[in-house]
Amino acid sequence: SQPVLELKGLCVDYGLGEQAVHAVRDVDLVLHRGEVLGLAGESGSGKSTLAYGLTRLLPPPGVISGGKVLYHPREGGPAVDVLRMTDEQLRRFRWAEASIVFQGAMNSLNPVHRVSTQLTDVIAAHDPASSPSSRLARAKELLALVGIAADRLDAYPHQLSGGMRQRVMIAMALALEPQVVIMDEPTTALDVVMQRQILRKLVELRERLGFSVVFITHDLSLLVEFSDRIAIMYGGRIVEEAPAAELYRDPLHPYSDGLLHAFPPLRGPRRELAGIPGSPPDLRAMPTGCAFHPRCPKAFAPCAEREPQLLAPGPAPRTVACWLHTEAPPESGVAEEAVT
Ligand code: ATP
Ligand code: SF4
Ligand code: MG
Repeated sequence: SQPVLELKGLCVDYGLGEQAVHAVRDVDLVLHRGEVLGLAGESGSGKSTLAYGLTRLLPPPGVISGGKVLYHPREGGPAVDVLRMTDEQLRRFRWAEASIVFQGAMNSLNPVHRVSTQLTDVIAAHDPASSPSSRLARAKELLALVGIAADRLDAYPHQLSGGMRQRVMIAMALALEPQVVIMDEPTTALDVVMQRQILRKLVELRERLGFSVVFITHDLSLLVEFSDRIAIMYGGRIVEEAPAAELYRDPLHPYSDGLLHAFPPLRGPRRELAGIPGSPPDLRAMPTGCAFHPRCPKAFAPCAEREPQLLAPGPAPRTVACWLHTEAPPESGVAEEAVT
């Protein structure tokens, strides 16, 4: 199918020069028309940074230090690099083409305004010529779309449950019929039930309205259930990407395998990633070679020496960055010497 967004070698840093933290490193990723792409990885792996970067909403000191984000307009024509858009193009792109619902966004609804006002404001901002009554009708329609009864239109945010507020945010994100909806879910483990509801709703809407979804979560099982394809991030890089069913059936990267088998402890507060020992890499002092090697149960000779590239291990439409699935690195004199 057709691509909507193509990330090519995207790099995002926080800070400049020596002090820079490389939070997203050389990411290649394609989002196809109408698909649900899941993005998973532990806290700090760079998921939000990737989402902020591709929409150019990075908070300082975030800077895009390389790459391209090609956007394919729905009306056809050549792809446009989001990173080179003018402010005016960017404003349009952000709401009307790709909308993003950030981590914790449901708390960003204005507490002193009714839901109806917040929705009609979004519509008015982009279609100033619309009449108040048509805006209200559209607001009702949008709420119905996300499964909220019209009688909640007059509610204030605090009168709604967390799940409903989240759905109001989705309604706002859909207000201008974007091609791409990006949802960045918080990593707190308790709201997995809510994440499931939201994702189910998005998938259903995607089928009716035909947009593409990027869903960001730490919960891989959720993605296996609802997404078409999954990309796994570790230390700012994508380490595996595959159709959801294949990733579930046969995860190739030991980190993906660990994430799939990470499960909450039976007792006590649910902690993230009970299944993978060790902790995520320090971006200021990345391990040499494969960033996962200090934690990898399958690490072998080349792993600490050289960083594996994201490559297709076979004819199937999937990629992985792991020496277990790539031809052994060519022996170089330098590496030989280092070993002896
Ligand atoms: P989570 O699952 O917790 O939301 P994430 O995968 O979204 O994590 P990011 O928030 O993208 O991760 O962070 C990636 C890395 O960038 C982390 O190591 C983080 O410490 C670093 N980082 C994020 N924001 C900043 C900032 N403003 N300044 C410096 N470093 C930052
Ligand atoms: Fe493990 Fe080596 Fe593969 Fe990295 S490259 S995931 S250390 S086996
Ligand atoms: Mg995040």
